[in-house]
Amino acid sequence: AAFCKSANAGRGARSLREMTGYTLGKRRRARYNLRTAGAARRAGTWGCADMELLERRIRADGEVLPGGILKVDGFLNHQMDPQLLMELGREFHRLFAGEGVNKILTIEASGIGPACFAGLVFGCPVLFAKKNRTRNLSGEFWTSTVFSFTHHVENTILVSKKYLGPGDRVLIVDDFLANGAALDGLITLCEKAGASVAGAGICIEKAFQPGGGRIRARGVRVES
Ligand code: 5GP
Repeated sequence: AAFCKSANAGRGARSLREMTGYTLGKRRRARYNLRTAGAARRAGTWGCADMELLERRIRADGEVLPGGILKVDGFLNHQMDPQLLMELGREFHRLFAGEGVNKILTIEASGIGPACFAGLVFGCPVLFAKKNRTRNLSGEFWTSTVFSFTHHVENTILVSKKYLGPGDRVLIVDDFLANGAALDGLITLCEKAGASVAGAGICIEKAFQPGGGRIRARGVRVES
């Protein structure tokens, strides 16, 4: 739970562990989750329960590795659970509906899965920033640099000027927010393109790392 900064915080549908630090056995947890969903429905925050779904999945199938890395490659960023990703897409839509989003932007590779499901719900194109200028790329690009938390290298990321411009209202989607380098790079691409950023929809925010705080201080709405 320490990994999760729930979108539900302060809205009446927080997890038991967030509220008390306690965990329950499997059967009692199932009963608790049903009660939480009921409370959310009564409070009119039923959609928030979708993020609870991800928290439960992380507890069940996630693995914490040394160095502050959360492994979720059984359902999010290697093998993917399409139903879970669809729920995340719906949740991002619930949070950013009415923002006039006409494009989802992410970064290869692991942002592409969640971004595509968000694109399906928003009914708009999904653009992913590339990390390498491959030979089949031609034309003009917006570029910025990103330090990779997982690989400890600096990448130049790029998107074609053809697909990002001043007419775009962008929702940035990514699997993780840690130090915020990836999100910073994507926001910079939008700024260079003259596109406006509606905000960022992040599946998992590692709230103990500084990225979220810094990017919110930059004036960008971040939901995780
Ligand atoms: P940031 O740029 O915010 O430091 O890191 C964001 C990127 O690093 C994400 O796109 C994600 O691919 C990767 N990342 C950061 N922390 C973790 C983690 O704990 N687990 C996994 N699997 N990827 C992470």
